[in-house]
Amino acid sequence: MTSTFTLCADSTSLAAALDKLRSSPMLFVDCEGDRLGVAGGSLSLISLRTSATPRMTYIVDVLALSSSDLIAVFAVLEHSSICKVLFDGRMDHSAFFHGHSTVMNNVLDLQLVDVSTRLLRGEGMDNQLGRLSPFFSTTHIIANRANYSKLHRLLSLSKTIKEHKVRNSVWTGGLVDHNGWMDRPLPPVRSERYIDPSLSVRSVKYVQLWSDAAPQPDDTYRLHPILPLEILHTPVDTAQFICTGCRRTLGRSSFPTTSLPKCFVCFAIDAKLESKQSTPLPQPAPETGSSRGWDDIQYREFCGDHPEWPTAYMYETGDFSDWYPEGGIGQR
Ligand SMILES: [Zn+2]
Repeated sequence: MTSTFTLCADSTSLAAALDKLRSSPMLFVDCEGDRLGVAGGSLSLISLRTSATPRMTYIVDVLALSSSDLIAVFAVLEHSSICKVLFDGRMDHSAFFHGHSTVMNNVLDLQLVDVSTRLLRGEGMDNQLGRLSPFFSTTHIIANRANYSKLHRLLSLSKTIKEHKVRNSVWTGGLVDHNGWMDRPLPPVRSERYIDPSLSVRSVKYVQLWSDAAPQPDDTYRLHPILPLEILHTPVDTAQFICTGCRRTLGRSSFPTTSLPKCFVCFAIDAKLESKQSTPLPQPAPETGSSRGWDDIQYREFCGDHPEWPTAYMYETGDFSDWYPEGGIGQR
């Protein structure tokens, strides 16, 4: 795998890149920015990898290029014949849409592919619910199992790579090499049986989720590691309601009750927030030994919510890197 790339920071370098980008049937897209995709955030860099050989990686410097140059870049992203492949493209698309009036329609989101393959990989309901812990209290899930059966925990890029056993030449166990998603041949998660045609349609719905408004930085109902409802599965409900949490219009079956107008996801987020408020602040745990004073679940809960704690007291905080307001959107 080559790690070379071409920086496009002026009209000349961009013009050469555009020829390659326009002729590629697929583009692997990732963005970086300041609070990317949230209200008040901004886009800084767009990474684009071509699928056509010779495969090339271009880093588009949004801050350095002129508005007229960027129009050509966004036209490529909007091109209906070019499939854009992303990993959790929601914030990328939010930045494109709200900041640059750009809409991506031909999309495949690999985070969505990961969730969609869990059943194919033999995951049952117990495993599905198990993924929610310790983000949600295990005892609470057990006591309210029916309210959590539609919830799917999203994984970060690094955990997805681990789970799908992407070969070591791509990921070596340290910092995530994002170029790994741009390399070929595809690892097992991207084999043909995992990617059915409906995933393209569902990916578009997923990345365009926040087209009504960019999430506010503290919007706990939109920025969390749970797959929003009615993305992978479309219910047949005729009655629809607006969730007062995420503000999405969803079918009746996405709500625990009509008298409590929050969808199952927002209902669960409320339960988490309530449990945090009712639990006392933790004491620092010993660095070693089995007697931490807190059980592992409690400890991971609190460490994950307190990234400012000393590293020595952090215990598998990676489990909470997906808690977007605290883990950092775009810091996959
Ligand atoms: Zn909701």
